[in-house]
Amino acid sequence: MGKCHRCGKSFNGDEKFCHDKCRDEHILDIEKRIEEAVKNDSSHTRKISRGF
Ligand SMILES: [Zn+2]
Repeated sequence: MGKCHRCGKSFNGDEKFCHDKCRDEHILDIEKRIEEAVKNDSSHTRKISRGF
């Protein structure tokens, strides 16, 4: 019995997600988070290089 990491639904199987749709949404979420982290990173770097 597994529990979906996306919607929290219990289901039979060892997968992390109950459905491909949940997995895709989760991956999109992670990609969005990484994108934001990179954005914050580059603005931070820009701030530092401006200081020099
Ligand atoms: Zn799910």
